[in-house]
Amino acid sequence: QSLLGDFRRDELYKTLKAKFGFNSFRHRQKNAIVSILLNNDAFVLMPTGAGKSLCYQLPAVLSKGVTVVVSPLRSLIEDQRSKMKELDIPCEALTSELSSADQEAIYQRLMSPEPDIKLLYVTPEKISASGRLSSAFSSLHRRGLLARFVIDEAHCVSQWGHDFRPDYTKLKSLRSTYASPKVPIIALTATATPKIVTDTRDHIGIETSKLFISSFVRDNLKYDLLPKASRSVVKVVEKMKQLYPGKSGIIYCLSRKECETVANMLTKAGMSAEVYHAGLNDKTRVNVQHRWLANRVDVICATIAFGMGIDKPDVRFVIHFSLPKSIEGYYQETGRAGRDGLPSYCLMLYSYQDSIRLRRMIEDTQSTSGIRMMHLQNIYQVVSYCENVSVCRRKMLVEHFGEVYDEQTCRTSKTPCDVCEKRKKNPSAFRVFDVSHEAKLILKELQRMQKVTLRYLAELYRGQLVKKTAEKAMSMGHKSLPFFGRGAGMTEQDSLRFLRRLVVEGYIFERLYAIPQQAGVVAYAEVTETGKQFAAGAPAKVYLHIVTCE
Ligand code: ADP
Ligand code: ZN
Repeated sequence: QSLLGDFRRDELYKTLKAKFGFNSFRHRQKNAIVSILLNNDAFVLMPTGAGKSLCYQLPAVLSKGVTVVVSPLRSLIEDQRSKMKELDIPCEALTSELSSADQEAIYQRLMSPEPDIKLLYVTPEKISASGRLSSAFSSLHRRGLLARFVIDEAHCVSQWGHDFRPDYTKLKSLRSTYASPKVPIIALTATATPKIVTDTRDHIGIETSKLFISSFVRDNLKYDLLPKASRSVVKVVEKMKQLYPGKSGIIYCLSRKECETVANMLTKAGMSAEVYHAGLNDKTRVNVQHRWLANRVDVICATIAFGMGIDKPDVRFVIHFSLPKSIEGYYQETGRAGRDGLPSYCLMLYSYQDSIRLRRMIEDTQSTSGIRMMHLQNIYQVVSYCENVSVCRRKMLVEHFGEVYDEQTCRTSKTPCDVCEKRKKNPSAFRVFDVSHEAKLILKELQRMQKVTLRYLAELYRGQLVKKTAEKAMSMGHKSLPFFGRGAGMTEQDSLRFLRRLVVEGYIFERLYAIPQQAGVVAYAEVTETGKQFAAGAPAKVYLHIVTCE
């Protein structure tokens, strides 16, 4: 840090105050900014709201030449551009919406002897598609006026991310094209597992960049989970209205239709709810957004498109009516609550069946089997998060991003997660069982069975068949299977959790079959290769955590 010298350090604080109106730096902003000013590459991994933009905007103001920012969405770019205008920082945006005359005017300014642009925002497709832009970049580069490249939402580069964008792969060429002198590259993101960080750095050629990571712990968010029952969402929103009068929240749904259904349900119960999804026209969407920003609507029922780039500090609750596609997605979406630091509520309404619906969506898309496999693993991780009864939810979330977290912190905080709350109330109510032997018994038999669902297996395991399946069990001789009735002491819920554990750990695969008459789907359990090896004695253990009394 001393490398920067006292002179520039004064300048740093002066500009922070004079240009941006802030008195101090937050979190790890200062370290990142100093390093960036020293022309290093940098990878900035900070949660939403931490203040990533300042990390490149302040250096842009203090550096000679133009800082080029690649950003994936027009709305995000527009947002930043108007902020920069307000602060009187010379900024332009090159997007496909601009007329060619307007684009040409920007190119001219970039080519001029002293470009009067500090920040230039571009969409990723522009970088590769426009020869005009490349020659403007080359001209700047030759004259030492290309300050640095900033790649916003950098995780979009990685195929392993939940947000992969093919256009981002073209950013690979930036490093080699502007190699001598080397133009520094800054990657920014709010979501990346350690694997994705490595992948992203490799891809854009900043393998050795410095990493600036700030904590992903959100102290003011209370994470909760409830089984999804027919009217649970209405009850929860009613409670939210009492708890946070005049404030609003988001309910995330899987499909447009589901948005409508939930909104109708809430409206009938006397609340103001609106929908927001890709099916609405621009005008309606802007309208809904405005009313919501002004707290004139209690709830927005939205698909994931909603919230990205919206900086509403007082979102008091985020409810997931259906499963998110990944833990990262869940973290991002819940992260839109409580950006002002005040207590806020994040609820997952969980139903295992939703994971099957999600899987159907993946299997309908035409992606490679590798990508599909990754999506499946992501869903399994979400299911594990939801079926978990013993590990602190904050811990599960932040450890997903590679951060270490002590559960005691959650347990003693003002907003402990539901798991910590229960554990605090009744510390001895949790037991861990080694169910490896039971698992092997089931897997051995399952290899010889056909067209059986997890639910049916759970019934057999507990020895408690419902009327509909009793006949099947009788005719197939399933009542004499070695594992029949062995789980008689378990609750129905726990026996299902046991079998789902075998799914998420990769021993059982549920193959989906469409039932055309009902437009539905049925999932039949199969033993995987790993499952066969396990049943045959491969060393491994399966543990089940059980709440012994509620
Ligand atoms: P991110 O991109 O990490 O989600 P932003 O860059 O949009 O976050 O910043 C979030 C909010 O924090 C913005 O309103 C911004 O003005 C504010 N902010 C950033 N840095 C500081 C700071 N050092 N002091 C006070 N407010 C800040
Ligand atoms: Zn906790």
